[in-house]
Amino acid sequence: MNQQKNTKQGILVKMNIVLLGSPGVGKGTYAKRISGIYGIPQISTGDMFREAIKNKTEIGLKAKEYIDKGELVPDDVTIGIVEERLKKDDCKNGFMLDGFPRTIAQAEALDKIVVIDKVLDFTASEKIIIDRLSGRRICKSCGAIYHIRNIIPKVKGVCDKCGGEVYQRNDDKPEAVKKRLDVYTKQTAPLIGYYKEKKLLADIGADKPIEQVDEIIADVRKALEE
Ligand SMILES: [Zn+2]
Repeated sequence: MNQQKNTKQGILVKMNIVLLGSPGVGKGTYAKRISGIYGIPQISTGDMFREAIKNKTEIGLKAKEYIDKGELVPDDVTIGIVEERLKKDDCKNGFMLDGFPRTIAQAEALDKIVVIDKVLDFTASEKIIIDRLSGRRICKSCGAIYHIRNIIPKVKGVCDKCGGEVYQRNDDKPEAVKKRLDVYTKQTAPLIGYYKEKKLLADIGADKPIEQVDEIIADVRKALEE
């Protein structure tokens, strides 16, 4: 594994990154910006699996066997896919792992194949996340996404693009969002403890509205370049 680091304005930039953050925290938006600034790819677990299976790599085919049987892919197979992906050219200056690791066992396995420099944990208050996610509306016909405050259809309840019905998915109702958040918090708490102990965790407050994304990115740069 290439451990070469980028140097930005003479500052050593730490680039092998793990991304953490609950649903609705805006992780995808931040990752896109970080990727643009440092030229490192965002690697999501889903994309990684799809790619390995599509390319019919040995480990990809092994993963497919489990998925086809509807079984959980074991950690040693998953870590094999991660290792294969991180060896690719676009990771030579670093990467952002998104959706992996999910458990301490996976984090320990990851530590055996690569040095993690920083874990960015995007956090926002439960109230703000519920507010964001439960404001989401979706078109029943074409899947276009709206939001009751900032992406409002011209005619209430009617899709601008296709005239379909704009509604709220059950998954986006406040009780369901709260449940999703609880599951996330329970799953991630041990991982946060693990990285905190290794002094790799950077808590990035993401309570600010999306228009102030520049300020959140400034905090990220500070965390990465300090
Ligand atoms: Zn529509």
